[in-house]
Amino acid sequence: MGAPGAGDIVAGAVDRADPVGAGFGGTARVGGAGGRAAVFSKRVARMARIVQKFGGTSVADLERIRHVADRVAAERASGNEVAVVVSAMAGETNRLVGLARETGPRPDQSECDVIAAAGEQVTSGLLALVLQSRNIDARSWLGWQVPVRTDIHHGKARILAVETDALADRLAAGQVAVVAGFQGIGPDGRVTTLGRGGSDTSAVALAAALGADRCDIYTDVDGIYTADPRIVAKARKLDKITYEEMLELASLGAKVLQTRSVELAMNHRVRLRVLSSFEDGPGTLVVDEEEIVEQQVVSGIAYSTDEAKITLVRVADRPGVAASIFGPLANANINVDMIVQNMSADGKATDLTFTVAKTDFERAVQVVETHAGELGYGDLVTDADVVKLSVIGVGMRSHAGIAQMMFKTLAERGINIQVISTSEIKISVLIAEEYTELALRALHSAYGLDAA
Ligand code: ADP
Ligand code: ASP
Ligand code: MG
Repeated sequence: MGAPGAGDIVAGAVDRADPVGAGFGGTARVGGAGGRAAVFSKRVARMARIVQKFGGTSVADLERIRHVADRVAAERASGNEVAVVVSAMAGETNRLVGLARETGPRPDQSECDVIAAAGEQVTSGLLALVLQSRNIDARSWLGWQVPVRTDIHHGKARILAVETDALADRLAAGQVAVVAGFQGIGPDGRVTTLGRGGSDTSAVALAAALGADRCDIYTDVDGIYTADPRIVAKARKLDKITYEEMLELASLGAKVLQTRSVELAMNHRVRLRVLSSFEDGPGTLVVDEEEIVEQQVVSGIAYSTDEAKITLVRVADRPGVAASIFGPLANANINVDMIVQNMSADGKATDLTFTVAKTDFERAVQVVETHAGELGYGDLVTDADVVKLSVIGVGMRSHAGIAQMMFKTLAERGINIQVISTSEIKISVLIAEEYTELALRALHSAYGLDAA
């Protein structure tokens, strides 16, 4: 790595799969190994390093980009080093993905990424221009220019490392870095994208790699709420939420942060904040459990309509049946989420129900049908009009009766529960999609989460 310099603390692997983490980001921030800590403290003495991320609605047109530039300018004026990560203009990624799909039934994924990544290229250039027009030194950085190194999984690539040497040098020289979110470069040198909502992950990975003091995610709501505020009017803004709870909320459907971004923030101890682009306010901090003073039993409720249910009716009730169903699904790279298998009354045949992501639904049905002979089920019943509701809270570890409250509340509204799954800090149920709003609001009240 050469002589100690800002670059030394910034290059490294950021993936959870890399337990070593190359001693960067969070490790360096808390004063990791020898030289790194020294380099870091020198930098901190100078100024803070901030990563700001602006989502699609925040950069939806030039007027809003000018408003974003105000926020960047204010951060810069307070003497901080600023790296900004931008999303594509609202609706643009959908438009680009749609165009790619129109070309034919199975478009080449690497070309799809070239197209999808274009939205962020435009906004990074526009914001750099607007900043320059105000005499603020700024330049755009595309994913491959940083570079943000990813694996080869086009459309849902994982970041392996962010090599920030060059970018950090420019930051230190006072230049604002405007980084196109969502983009990376694969091992073969081709453009990759990080999955929908991936700019959050770009921002957190950059913050980790830069050893940033804060990563501020600016969006169209003023923080993280107890439930999606667009559906539950009485949702309450949280001042703080734990990484663990946010990780569950995100992975169970709250799209305010991409799941991977929370995972990275947790692993690298990135100080993460969600706040509004449009109004001033403190937002919500994502923190360690010890930093939460008043712990609620339930912190939030999430929902996901990205589920589809498959039931194999009258499957033989014998050892090895589950393996022979889920084996081929795993081989086809299809993730199975919830599973229920009934006890058979006669010891001969049973019903087996499971859910998969809607995007995998058709393929999952095909896989099951292909293996129909060996599985020997009576009937195949499918339902894509389902929603998974999840109640989340670290307080569940020490409190009983949380699940019962969920079942009772839904029962009182006449809502049938189709599948249940639980883990240490969450309970999920699958219900008919038409009851989504009713169930969310009822549960929100039942757990005492409603705003006063
Ligand atoms: P951006 O374009 O800024 O990345 P997103 O649309 O990806 O914004 O995420 C913000 C949206 O997340 C909000 O508009 C809100 O509807 C939704 N959301 C879902 N659950 C929550 C929650 N618990 N708290 C806040 N917002 C949530
Ligand atoms: N533009 C991408 C999307 O719409 C990434 C992002 O906004 O985070 O999913
Ligand atoms: Mg988003």
